[in-house]
Amino acid sequence: MTTIVLPYMLDFYPLQDEDNTRIHQFYASLREGKLTTTKCKDCGGLFWPPRVACPGCNSDQFEWVELPDEGELYAFTAMLLGAPLGMEKDVPFVLGMVQLDGTEFKVLSRIGNTKYEDCSLGMRVKLETYELEDGRVWFRFVPAD
Ligand SMILES: [Zn+2]
Repeated sequence: MTTIVLPYMLDFYPLQDEDNTRIHQFYASLREGKLTTTKCKDCGGLFWPPRVACPGCNSDQFEWVELPDEGELYAFTAMLLGAPLGMEKDVPFVLGMVQLDGTEFKVLSRIGNTKYEDCSLGMRVKLETYELEDGRVWFRFVPAD
């Protein structure tokens, strides 16, 4: 088997270490199975996805807060063609907007362990984190039952 190393700009997954991103804590938390985001220490603004500058007051002082690991499917679609490089073999797969419980956040994510035909609006889903072959970590949602 041949391994193709993608140029960084075509790589779907972000670089995750402290040298490459100021939200490296987000990935460290994913590694522990937790979805987190930033809360502004100055104005209290809570945003998804995590920020390095507050859209409300421009502060760069944040604390990390854990988000719920369950929610419901707010919208979904199937990826049939044109998947990002490295995911061509996965099609068809489901993409969804997950309304996280108790928050105003809708998180765009792959929806795993299911087929488009088996998804429905309002379907309960839960967070699943996983490690990529190169050691990076990412997340998706899967049916909760
Ligand atoms: Zn702020």
